[in-house]
Amino acid sequence: MTAEPPIETPRSLADAFDALAGSTADAQITPIAGGTDVMVAITGELGPVPERMLDLSRVDALRGIHLEHDGLVLGARTTYTEIRRSALCREHLPALVEAAATIGAAQIQNRGTLGGNIANASPAGDTLPILLAADAMILVGGQRGEREIAAMDFFVAYRKTALAPDELILQVRFPVPPGREVRFRKVGTRRAQAISKMVMAIAWEDFGATGWSNVRIALGSVAATPIRARATEAVLEGTHPTPEVADRAAETLAGELQPIDDVRSTADYRRAVSARILHRLLRDAGGW
Ligand SMILES: Cc1cc2nc3c(=O)[nH]c(=O)nc-3n(C[C@H](O)[C@H](O)[C@H](O)COP(=O)(O)OP(=O)(O)OC[C@H]3O[C@@H](n4cnc5c(N)ncnc54)[C@H](O)[C@@H]3O)c2cc1C
Repeated sequence: MTAEPPIETPRSLADAFDALAGSTADAQITPIAGGTDVMVAITGELGPVPERMLDLSRVDALRGIHLEHDGLVLGARTTYTEIRRSALCREHLPALVEAAATIGAAQIQNRGTLGGNIANASPAGDTLPILLAADAMILVGGQRGEREIAAMDFFVAYRKTALAPDELILQVRFPVPPGREVRFRKVGTRRAQAISKMVMAIAWEDFGATGWSNVRIALGSVAATPIRARATEAVLEGTHPTPEVADRAAETLAGELQPIDDVRSTADYRRAVSARILHRLLRDAGGW
């Protein structure tokens, strides 16, 4: 039986920043939002027990979903249930609502947060490919000030992020340019309570005659971090997804990915299912 670590519960962002100011890589204070990842680690069986904790549950500045002139903004403490119920998310980023509905089951969706999924930085985190595909910007901050980090630059290595130990994730901003579509698909062992074997989000802007532009294909569970498949994106850029283009894109994706075998799946399956899911998403988008 391990002793519970001391926990502070600030009531404002300024107090949270003050409490976190002493956090360093060697003496880390662990924020806790919904606790659905942190509490799994607290027994010590899966790694070191956090030494000190910072409970974010009273920091209301980290909550809320709103639309700004250039995007949809979600507070880090937004739960999956809130995303599922949000009319703004359903209208401007339905792919995120779909992803939220696949995470855990109701209990996890009621507590688990977007910020927790991002900071936890599991390669299987289901929202992360959407962040990459939608060119999301992550606002982080602490006593030293605030900065925005592109989602693409946030996940630097296996479960390592660009977040400093004395910073919190504050908000995520999803640009919502006109004409853009984002689609999401997850493959797990079952429909609920399944960690992804492969998870994919694709995005594009379509203005008709010139074909697709700003194509993004992002995947999770196929590498140490969520990744973009840039060679496959290049196949789709400036085209429309005809069956021939979809064949070529799926083939390119299967060649481009270098997943590993692990307890959840094999590399071969991950490669094959990724190609197949991409093909299906392109077929749906092309309407053939
Ligand atoms: C049964 C079960 C099923 C699950 N199913 C899925 C699933 O299907 N898909 C999926 O992707 N995940 C799943 N998860 C994992 C988990 O629910 C998600 O990653 C969730 O989003 C974590 O959010 P949280 O608020 O609970 O994070 P917490 O556990 O509170 O924190 C997670 C990490 O993020 C840090 N953190 C939290 N908030 C902030 C912040 N604002 N700033 C900086 N750091 C912060 C914490 O210090 C910690 O390192 C599952 C977990 C369980 C237990």
